[in-house]
Amino acid sequence: MTGTLIARGTVLDLCYLFAAITFILALKGLSNPKRARSGNFIAMFGMAVAIGATFFQPNLRNVVPMVIAMIVGAVIGIPTSRFVKMTAMPQLVAIFNGVGGGAAALVSITEYMKIQHEGPPTYVVLEVLLGVLIGTVSFSGSAIAFIKLQELITGRPITYPGQQVINALLGVGAVALIVIILIHPSVALLWILLAVAFIVGMAIVLPIGGADVPVLISLLNSLTGVAVAASGFTLGNNMLIVAGTLVGASGLLLTQMMCKAMGRSLPNILFSAFGSAVSGGAAGTGEDRPVRSQTPEDIGVMLAYANKVAIIPGYGLAVAQAQHIIRELADELEAKGIDVFYAIHPVAGRMPGHMNVLLAEANVPYDKLLEMDEANPMLKDCDVALVVGANDTVNPAAREAGSPISGMPIINADEAGQVVFLKRSMRPGFAGIENELLFNEKTTLVFGDAKETLTKMVGALAAS
Ligand code: NDP
Repeated sequence: MTGTLIARGTVLDLCYLFAAITFILALKGLSNPKRARSGNFIAMFGMAVAIGATFFQPNLRNVVPMVIAMIVGAVIGIPTSRFVKMTAMPQLVAIFNGVGGGAAALVSITEYMKIQHEGPPTYVVLEVLLGVLIGTVSFSGSAIAFIKLQELITGRPITYPGQQVINALLGVGAVALIVIILIHPSVALLWILLAVAFIVGMAIVLPIGGADVPVLISLLNSLTGVAVAASGFTLGNNMLIVAGTLVGASGLLLTQMMCKAMGRSLPNILFSAFGSAVSGGAAGTGEDRPVRSQTPEDIGVMLAYANKVAIIPGYGLAVAQAQHIIRELADELEAKGIDVFYAIHPVAGRMPGHMNVLLAEANVPYDKLLEMDEANPMLKDCDVALVVGANDTVNPAAREAGSPISGMPIINADEAGQVVFLKRSMRPGFAGIENELLFNEKTTLVFGDAKETLTKMVGALAAS
């Protein structure tokens, strides 16, 4: 009997080791658009092995509720993920992340109930309490992020006097509660810690503007990873420790990369309430200044005379679902011998890799997607920079001191011979800042939904 248990434990550990290796390989795959799909499949396979192996854990109990929970999760999760719109992806990530944090917190609470009378070592209780704190912060923070992104409440920063002091006091209060519980174990205090952690999560997210919420989700994702790793220590489960640590580290690295791509620091994103003062000066709609605009047909004909065209996609491409028609336009241009490439800004859209995923859906060849650093030196040789639903990521205000987006690297659309903007109005982009490039003498605006505009452009191009 004991021999069988040991053998089972060894097989379980080997399966977990295998799954851990697949997760690392999956992350490597996900770092490149060409291999991202296979990276995802590798991770799914590894996760299936890890979950399957868990059922062979010695002395496993409650198998039926576990299976029921898995079926309920699959019934909710699979259709939600399959049918989500690309523009709603950040919300989906937020809610899935919150559920992960909540699950980790529940594991820690259950464990505390179990061990509190056994006089466990202090470090074990600390692990459990950190699991409760971090998991709950991630849960409530992600819930608010979801509500903001879904526009159930304003996406603007919600601020009030003394907010930072109150937030700091809440943080200090949570840490003090943990210290008190370590000295005087108490279930009542655990519930208070849970409530404080819940409020801390909400308090952190409320003052963050919609434009910065995706960065925050990445940070919360990292926190969920840490909470899951803490659950792993609590339960003595190596798989949870490895998976949680990988999520924690990769979430933190992604947060850092997003901050760099936006030219801002993490404290600035977390504490500056960016986007709360968008009315007035910096956020003018520019309606009183003259701009040059033309019809889609005119631009279609004009493109036929270009030698090299850079397509610069942004959030509006996702809103208009114009990924297929932009590919048709590129195909049409190439059929006429015109050189075309896509210049991809790292934070174009509303989540990292947003444009890559959209364009991959339309089967745009990966070698046509150039990252910003690769594309920028080529823009001066382009006859036309075709900006499709992008704004902040081409805004030259980023090069000036004193602008809210100062220091954000941009795609140098203004270096091309001509700039064509496809957008619906003179409204600014997500950062709420007027874009001087719209008023530049070499810029032409084509007003309207990008999909409709592009459809007309393709027609005119094909006929010319
Ligand atoms: P922006 O939000 O700056 O601009 C989007 C543009 O699309 C707007 O000018 C809008 O103008 C236009 N648009 C919207 N819908 C349509 C439509 N149906 N047809 C045509 N045009 C449309 O987008 P960018 O991609 O340039 O910049 C992304 C912003 O998001 C940056 O500020 C970035 O910092 C921020 N961000 C991105 C993250 C990421 O990971 N990708 C994370 C966090 C923040 P109009 O309304 O006039 O049509």
